[in-house]
Amino acid sequence: MSEQKSVREIRISPIVPSESVLVATARGMRPKKAEEKVQRDTRAHVDTCPFCKGNEAKTPPTIKAYPSEQEWKVRIVENLFPVLGDDRAESGLNFGLQQVIDGYGRHEVLIDHDSHGIAVHEMSVDHLALLFGAYQDRMKTLYQSDERLRYVLVFKNFGPAAGASIPHTHSQIIATPVVPENVINELEHSRQYYSKHNQCVFCALIDEALTFEATIYDKNSGEVRRKIDVGQYVIERGEKFIAIKPFASRYEWEVHILPLEHQNDFVQVSEADMADLGRVIKRTMQRLDKVIGGVQYNYFLHTRPHGDQFADCKQSYHWHLEITPRTSIPTGFELGSDLFVSTISPEDAAQQLRDVILD
Ligand SMILES: [Zn+2]
Ligand SMILES: [Zn+2]
Ligand SMILES: [Zn+2]
Repeated sequence: MSEQKSVREIRISPIVPSESVLVATARGMRPKKAEEKVQRDTRAHVDTCPFCKGNEAKTPPTIKAYPSEQEWKVRIVENLFPVLGDDRAESGLNFGLQQVIDGYGRHEVLIDHDSHGIAVHEMSVDHLALLFGAYQDRMKTLYQSDERLRYVLVFKNFGPAAGASIPHTHSQIIATPVVPENVINELEHSRQYYSKHNQCVFCALIDEALTFEATIYDKNSGEVRRKIDVGQYVIERGEKFIAIKPFASRYEWEVHILPLEHQNDFVQVSEADMADLGRVIKRTMQRLDKVIGGVQYNYFLHTRPHGDQFADCKQSYHWHLEITPRTSIPTGFELGSDLFVSTISPEDAAQQLRDVILD
């Protein structure tokens, strides 16, 4: 492991400037309260688990199963406790500043695998391709099913602090009539960047991650403050996809996976490319498991919403998967200022993840 210089600086996200992070690796910032690691239930089958094979009758009916209902490897059911409902109650109660949007939408649960306690990094590349293909298939179907749906959010929670209530490996899809605020911020800032530079900011970041080389000197002493090497932020590179550590990561071990070639919408990924996506995801999750194994995490897809509002963002927006491991509990400083603190530098974290030897 390389000797790291201590860093203390506020980094502004190149995509959404309001999402900044204070990188403070000096000892004084430690310790933050560590998030609890989860004792993982690694059993393949649990008789009482409603998501295990043979217990299909214990869940709401199957919406779709892959590759088939009898031989399912991924199975989708309605959420028993949906946060959004299918009913079309007209509740347009808007009063002054208090705007209400109907809680209309869809909420589905994907049982990721027939093996109860399998972790994402243990799933085969083929299975991950099938799982992400299932996400894509549902996304297409949901957008087609109702023109009021503006955004289909695919996400996974692992561990109780990350929101997972059932131990059997699963993810969720929520389709809403509104676009989430953080996606809107990304869309609008990347649109501005595009109109100024005539280039997608995500593509620019990928190019930079792959080719940029620079030395940053201290203004006063002339000492080298930071050397940015080729590939410093690259965690994993496939044929079609890349995993990078964002320069201004809000979560210490956050990693983003993006298509190398510009693509605005996750539904555009071809079936042939899903295998490479599965491979990059598996290898990235293996690296994270080796370095911070057992921590709770979320991942979610950010992709261009459907509908007219962001139809002009095809050139400027670039879909991506954000993986956000939770290693520490946010402090009052973070919640109060919305300035996240990272006690490990993103360069150091990237180095540690790259150094993992995979078989
Ligand atoms: Zn189970
Ligand atoms: Zn792009
Ligand atoms: Zn995003």
